[in-house]
Formats: sequence, structure tokens, C-alpha cells
Amino acid sequence: MTGSKRVLLAKPRGYCAGVDRAVQTVEEALKLYGAPIYVRKEIVHNKHVVSTLQAKGAIFVEENEEVPEGATVVFSAHGVAPEVHEQAAARSLKAIDATCPLVTKVHQEARRFAAEDYDILLIGHEGHEEVIGTAGEAPAHIQLVDGPEGVDKVTVRDPAKVVWLSQTTLSVDETLETVARLKTKLPLLMSPPSDDICYATSNRQDAVKAMAPNCDVVLVVGSQNSSNSQRLREVAVDAGARAGYLIDYASEIQDEWLAGATTVGVTSGASVPDELVMEVLDHLAARDFTDVAEITTAQEKLVFSLPQELKRDMKASAAARAAEVAKTLS
Ligand code: SF4
Repeated sequence: MTGSKRVLLAKPRGYCAGVDRAVQTVEEALKLYGAPIYVRKEIVHNKHVVSTLQAKGAIFVEENEEVPEGATVVFSAHGVAPEVHEQAAARSLKAIDATCPLVTKVHQEARRFAAEDYDILLIGHEGHEEVIGTAGEAPAHIQLVDGPEGVDKVTVRDPAKVVWLSQTTLSVDETLETVARLKTKLPLLMSPPSDDICYATSNRQDAVKAMAPNCDVVLVVGSQNSSNSQRLREVAVDAGARAGYLIDYASEIQDEWLAGATTVGVTSGASVPDELVMEVLDHLAARDFTDVAEITTAQEKLVFSLPQELKRDMKASAAARAAEVAKTLS
């Protein structure tokens, strides 16, 4: 009798509004302009999404120099520094910017505080594309604080004129700790006008926190280079799961991870299509984890419209088609 084995499934999980928009941007660009469409960096940090778009005709490159002059390039959801737009213009590239609007909001904050001559402490992970893009908005004013341990290295010009901003996909709890340490060092430190850690990141972490104390093991579907997915694994373990594993595909689940477990938690990062989660549920069901209960901590309804430059071309193309049809009928 194995009926006591169960799965707790976190909700919200998976695609956020920014990822959905970015993936749709590449798909619509392929339909509108035809393959190939160049994409600078991984459009979102997920192996499956990238390989699916590659199969449809997207070519992923690291830098603009790899894109033929005059071709179309999509910038990823993580955002780019202004110099990347300048390089694209210099090569006459048709650039479509799929930066998540919530990342753009942080860029705008960085520009505004830099214009007011603040020192900006950007909490984030060194080398992450989003951090490189945000820091590129005001390199002379921004210094990176990589977690609580980074606080000791911070030096500012005027302790009364300093503000913190953050990467959108950090651990909420660790960021609070970093800010608390910064405030001990800099009591006049200003906070951003609104949360930089985005709704999707904090909602997914909240759902894992609600689920993990009742789980022996938590499986997080997401890629190794996905910051928000990595954080979900850490949050699961911190919240009481015996172990947490980050996997791209169900086939990576090792039977020994499930040995002795009666409750397995499942969630996925913000760049993960739900079909991959369903494959994990099938894999678990084949091992007697058939009782699935969804743990819902928030409802998400946010949707972002496609980038203006793409919408404009889609509209022009639809109008041209309509005119063609009218001509044929007349
Ligand atoms: S995780 Fe947040 S900031 Fe990143 S793409 Fe999704 S909604 Fe935007």
C-alpha cells in the first residue's frame, strides 16, 4: 500500500509576465520578419525555452558584433546597458527590446538617483546579466553589494546621500538582511521608491515557504543559471525541506532523492514552461506519488504588452495585408 505518498505543488510557479512577454516577442518576431532572428544572450534563463526557440529559427549570440549588419536582434528579458543600444545602432541593427518592464523600472530609478548625484548601492549577484545592464545605466554612481558579506566593502562619498536598489530576482529574506546591515553602517540610507524584487520572485518564494515545511524533498524545475530558480531551492531548504534539487527535466530526478520520502514539493522558476512541471508530476506518479495537492498563496493576473517597436511593425504588416485583400476583392 503506497497511497500515503503525496506531492505538494506550489502556486504561483513558472512563467511570470516578463518571461511570457519576452518569449512571445521572439516568437512574433520570427513570424513577422522570418528566420533567422538574432537574440542577444539567452532570452530567459531556461535551457528548454532556448532550445525550443532555436528550433524555430532564433540564433542566440553573446554580443551585437555576432549579428550581421542590418539584421534583427532581440534583447533579453534581463535588460541591457545603454551602450548595447548604441552598439546596435552603430551596426544598423533592428533592435527589439524585450527587457522586462519591471527591470526597466529599476533602470529608471538608477538613472534618476544618478542624476541627483546619489551613490547607489545595487544589491545583486556579480556577473548576472541584469546587474550588468542596470549598473551600465550609471557606472560612476553604482557599486554592487553581493549579499550581506558585501557590505563591509562599501564606501560612499556622502553617507547622507546614498540609496539602495536591487536585482529583481533575489531572495527576499537575504536582501532584507543585506539592507539591515547596510543601515547599521549607513543609517541615512534611502530605500527605493517601491520594491525592486519583483512580484513574481516574491510570490514564488512565498509559495515555497508555505509548502516546504511539510516536504521531505522539494524539486525546483529551472536551469542552473536562473537566479530566481536557484533562490527557490535555497528558500525550500531554509524553510524546512530536508533537501532541495534544481532540475531542468524530469529525467534528471534520481531515485535516491526520493528514497524514504512521503511528501515531495514541486515548483518552478519564473522562466519555466508548465509542461516541464507536468512531466515531473508524471515521473513522480510513476513512483507512486499520485496524490497531488496544489498549495496556492497568491493569484497572478499581470500581463505585459509586447515591445512598442514590434507592435508597430505587426500593425503595419496587418494593415498591408488588409489592403492587399481589399485590392484583390475590388
Ligand atoms: S522574474 Fe520578475 S523581473 Fe524577471 S522577467 Fe519575471 S516579472 Fe520581470
